[in-house]
Amino acid sequence: MRLSIVVPCYNEEAVVDLFDARIRETLDDLGVDYELCYVDDGSKDGTLAKLRALAVNREASTRYVSFSRNFGKEAGILAGLRETTGDAVVIMDADLQHPPELISTMLELHRNGHDQIIARRTREGDKPMRTAVSRLYYRVINKWVDVELTDGVGDFRLLSRRAVDALLSMPEYNRFSKGLFSWIGFDTVTFDYRNAAREAGETKWRFGALVNYGMDGLISFNNRPLRLAIYLGMAMAGIAAAYAVVVTVMAMIKGPDAPGYVTLLVAIVGLGGLQMLMLGLIGEYIGRIYYETKRRPHFLVKETNAPRSFGVGVQA
Ligand code: UDP
Ligand code: MG
Repeated sequence: MRLSIVVPCYNEEAVVDLFDARIRETLDDLGVDYELCYVDDGSKDGTLAKLRALAVNREASTRYVSFSRNFGKEAGILAGLRETTGDAVVIMDADLQHPPELISTMLELHRNGHDQIIARRTREGDKPMRTAVSRLYYRVINKWVDVELTDGVGDFRLLSRRAVDALLSMPEYNRFSKGLFSWIGFDTVTFDYRNAAREAGETKWRFGALVNYGMDGLISFNNRPLRLAIYLGMAMAGIAAAYAVVVTVMAMIKGPDAPGYVTLLVAIVGLGGLQMLMLGLIGEYIGRIYYETKRRPHFLVKETNAPRSFGVGVQA
């Protein structure tokens, strides 16, 4: 049994060495055969130099792939997964927010036959506002999306080889991994762990990025929002028809009633807004089609010590 660890790193110069030491210590204690696949996601600091040094010192068990620029964590995970040769793969962050000790629990569950073993973090130490917003978001989104998305579940998980192969068989450009993980299915278990603070360096998530991520979650997995547009349109048309009847009947009884500019104005502005919203929604889907049809690689590799690399992120 060989275990592969995939670690996307973006500007993680401050922690990679620490991470490497900790993970090796843990895996050596467990007595498993392992390989580490680091992906430098176009870092602007000394991350790549650190990875090179690690690869020289630890040769066979360390691979690294360095991107030509920042392609995002999802691309990093994809590149890392493509490099893995293990029978099982663990995806983890470089900042030690994903405690390496949990790998032993994951391996045990894997040996019991589970394909996806997910470590879900509690929200201890998060700002209460952020926690509340996240909870609400997941409540709403699970009504909309076909796949189930769970609060606190991130990329920290162990995947069996067949689960990894399933993920790699999905060629889409827009990779919302939370959804992809859920979409592939297989025998899945989740366990909780206490949220840990970042060891060093800083988080790459800004508020705007979170909002974008939230939108991706809503739109990436089905076209139900478009259906909502149809229903809303039908409802509006129904209301308009009913109002037309009321106005006509009133006009026949009492004669024409001229003032009504407030109704008119509200209707024009309201409907205009609604139309813009729906157009934006359609545009969002078309934009996604546009990106998919270009069939661009998910990432470009600048440098690697991994023999399996194709040089560019060609589609599987
Ligand atoms: N990361 C990446 N590319 C990016 C942003 C982040 O590879 O564009 C990596 C980062 O180096 C870390 C992991 O993704 O290993 C999680 O990032 P971070 O700790 O900033 O996110 P948070 O834990 O705050 O959600
Ligand atoms: Mg982190």
